[in-house]
Formats: sequence, structure tokens, C-alpha cells
Amino acid sequence: MNKCGTQNYASGISSAKKALEAGIDVLVAGAGFAGSVVARELAERANKKVLVVEQRSHVGGNAFDTYDEAGVLIHAYGPHIFHTNSKRAYEYLSRFTEWRSYQHEVLANIHGKLTPVPFNFNSIEQHFVPTTAAMLIRQLEESFGKNTKVPIIELQKSSNSLLGELADFVYENVFLHYTLKQWGLRPEEVDESVTARVPVYTGRDNRYFTDTWQGMPLHGYTPLFDNMLNHDNITVVLGADARELLEFALIDSKASLKLPATCSLIYTGPLDFLAETCYGMLPYRSLDFVYLTLQQKHFQPVGTVNYTVSEDYTRITEFTWLTGQELDVTTIMEEYPCAFEQKPGQVPYYAILDPVNTKAYERYLSLFLQIPNFYALGRLAEYRYFNMDQIVERALELADRICAHD
Ligand code: FAD
Ligand code: UDP
Repeated sequence: MNKCGTQNYASGISSAKKALEAGIDVLVAGAGFAGSVVARELAERANKKVLVVEQRSHVGGNAFDTYDEAGVLIHAYGPHIFHTNSKRAYEYLSRFTEWRSYQHEVLANIHGKLTPVPFNFNSIEQHFVPTTAAMLIRQLEESFGKNTKVPIIELQKSSNSLLGELADFVYENVFLHYTLKQWGLRPEEVDESVTARVPVYTGRDNRYFTDTWQGMPLHGYTPLFDNMLNHDNITVVLGADARELLEFALIDSKASLKLPATCSLIYTGPLDFLAETCYGMLPYRSLDFVYLTLQQKHFQPVGTVNYTVSEDYTRITEFTWLTGQELDVTTIMEEYPCAFEQKPGQVPYYAILDPVNTKAYERYLSLFLQIPNFYALGRLAEYRYFNMDQIVERALELADRICAHD
């Protein structure tokens, strides 16, 4: 297995055009998890000639990692921790990487007190006097059972006055300010599924995720992608925007793309930009990352500290906790959320889930579904909030469907 991410790929739009003209069966736009998994599957299982075109200068999508000048392995687009309950996704990726066993822990900095998140019994005992903490724990167990996940919105509905006080505390100290920073919205204004990702936990497990399989690719994500894309039937071209090949046109409300008749297209970028935002841009949230290298072994006690009541950034991640690198220096990263305004270099990281935006997205999707052999796949192309493992599963399922129709 490749361990260092040193694959040499072709680059530039003219290389992409040449590869397309040479004859391919499938064009994949984007070399993140969605594009790379489906490319590998179709190349391997269906013996398809696949061209993967990626606009960035590297593979891996938002999971891309690289060594900084201090020799610290950093994540270029936000901290990525693999966790899944999907045996299929885990076993699939295990073909391309070994794993470092890692259980992610997050602490919320609440007025200087570092508190486990998801907020759990240990967190309660930090913030309430012992008699109140004991009553809260008993009430939580009676109302919701042991070791269960209770979304903050559910806890707020509790008719029990003590649990109501707890809900107010957690809402104010964990969710309100963080969510305002992350989304520019109050917790009750974002889709319920978003805050439910970080529930109140009726137990003492301090881990951020409780999935069966958790860990980090032993040598990083980029070598995982290099291994996945290393197949005789796959050509990868970096630094090439698929839209330049596809030449979108809209005539009488009918979309068309320039593509050889026998070629399928799997598109993993945002559909509104593929359609030249003809119906307006879908709303996205973006992030700015600020990296700092410090001449010390560690900066904080765990991988991520969330700043839930103070600071302009939402969280600080210290990568060496995630990767297990043992160094005398460390690199940390602050995350500053912002609106996506198409500024140079800005990335549309998050779809903003609400019924109006979903409807606007579906208008774009129906435009492209008129095109034969067009498939939208991935977090951007599907305008959803998917974790990596969900994308891997969806890519495998799409490959199943395409292979079944051959
Ligand atoms: P992407 O990774 O975005 O890949 C799409 C690729 O397509 C990009 O490289 C893009 O450049 C390329 N592209 C787009 N348009 C074009 C075009 N026209 N031509 C050529 N190329 C194009 N998930 C987890 O499971 N665990 C985590 O800890 C985690 N942390 C996250 C932290 C942050 C800050 C963010 C934003 C996401 C996180 N995720 C996490 C989610 C994870 O990033 C996604 O599930 C995953 O990256 C989705 O893969 P994808 O291929 O759909 O999209
Ligand atoms: N959240 C919060 N406080 C926290 C952690 C999360 O308010 O300390 C909310 C916030 O709205 C966030 C959502 O829960 O967007 C989901 O958090 P998660 O960590 O899953 O987001 P990710 O960084 O994985 O996108």
C-alpha cells in the first residue's frame, strides 16, 4: 500500500480534454470520497474506463491531508475523524488503508471550564452542586433511560422542571453561541437533524462518537485516496474544472451537457454552479481556517476544544491528537464560520438545510435528471449533510445500481 501520498497525476484542462477524446465510459467530476469510491468500483467491477477530473490540485476532496512546514500532518479543510456503523463502508476503506485506533473526544470551553461534549453525566457534575447533579442524573435516566442520546430540542420539551433547567443551561452554554457562530442562526432555526448530531448523553461516555468503527487512516487520508485511485482503468486529472468539458446550456428550460453519447457522468460538485446558477445560487455556509504552529508538545488536552460561549472561532483542533504523531512542535487550527459569498478560494462546505433551500435544490436536480446517464452524488451534489461513511455507502450503492443495469 502507498503510505506517503506521492502519486503523480496529470494536470490541466488540456490533459482532461485529451483523456476524454481518447475514449472513456465514465466521467467523474470530483476526487473526494464520492468520486473516488464510485470511480474505483466502476473501474474494477464493471471494467469501465473512468476519467476523474478534479478542479483542485490534489485528490481527497475535503478529507485531503498534508504535512505542513513543521512536519505536522494537518487536515486542509477541517478536522476529519472516521466513524461508522456501516460494516460495508469500513471494510471497503480497509482495502486501501490500515487504521490507527482513535476515539475522538471534544471538550467545550464554558467560561474556562473544559466540559465533555456531548454534555453527559460527567459534564453535569462539573456544573451543578452534587445534590442537584445526582437529581438531574436520576431524572434523565428515568425519563430517557441509560446511555441514550437526547437531542437538545427533545430535552427542552421536558415537562419536568429540573430537566427544564438543565435544558436551559445546555442550550445557553453549549448550543446557542456556537450555533450562532456556525450558522448565523439560533439552534431552533436550524434543521433539527443538525443539532441532534450532538445530543445530551445519559451516561458517562466522553467520546464524541459512539459508532462501532472509529479511527484515522494510519498514514493519512491522502494515501488512502491514492491507493483507491490507483487502477489501470482510472485516469485522474487535477486542476481541471469539469464544467469546462461539459459546456452547460439551457434552451427552452431543457439542460444539456456536452458529453459523448455512450459516456456516463457522475457529478460530485454543486449542481447550481454546474447550471451556471441559472435559478440563483443555493445558500451555503463556509469556513476560514487559521493555522498556528507552536513550539510545544501539546496545546490542549484533547483533539478538539469547542468555544461555546466565547471567541469568534467555533473550535480549535490539534492534529497530533488525531494522527498520533509524536513531535516537539504542534499545529492547531481555529475555525471561523462565514457566509459563502463566492470569494476567491472560498469553499461551499455546508448546505443550509431548510424546506425552501431543498426545493430550490430539487429544481436544479430535476433539470439534470432529464440528461441520460447523469448521476448526482455527494455532499455538494446532493445538497445534504453527509459524513464520510455515508458518502462511501452511497457511492457503493450507486455503483451497485450502475453495474446491475449493465
Ligand atoms: P468533497 O469532499 O467536497 O469532494 C468533492 C470534490 O469535487 C472536491 O474536491 C471538489 O473540488 C470537486 N469538484 C467540485 N466541482 C467540481 C468540478 N466542476 N470539476 C472538478 N472537480 C470538482 N465527515 C466525517 O465522517 N467525519 C468528520 O470528522 C468530518 N468532519 C468534517 C469537517 C468539516 C469542516 C467539513 C466541511 C466536513 C466534514 N465531514 C466529516 C464531512 C466530509 O467532509 C464529507 O462527508 C466528505 O468530504 C464528502 O465527500 P464528497 O466527495 O461528497 O465531497
Ligand atoms: N453544536 C453546538 N455546540 C457544540 C457542538 C455542536 O451548538 O459544542 C451544534 C452546531 O449547531 C453544529 C451542530 O451541533 O453545527 C453539529 O455539530 P457537529 O460537531 O456534528 O458538526 P460538524 O463539525 O461535524 O459539521
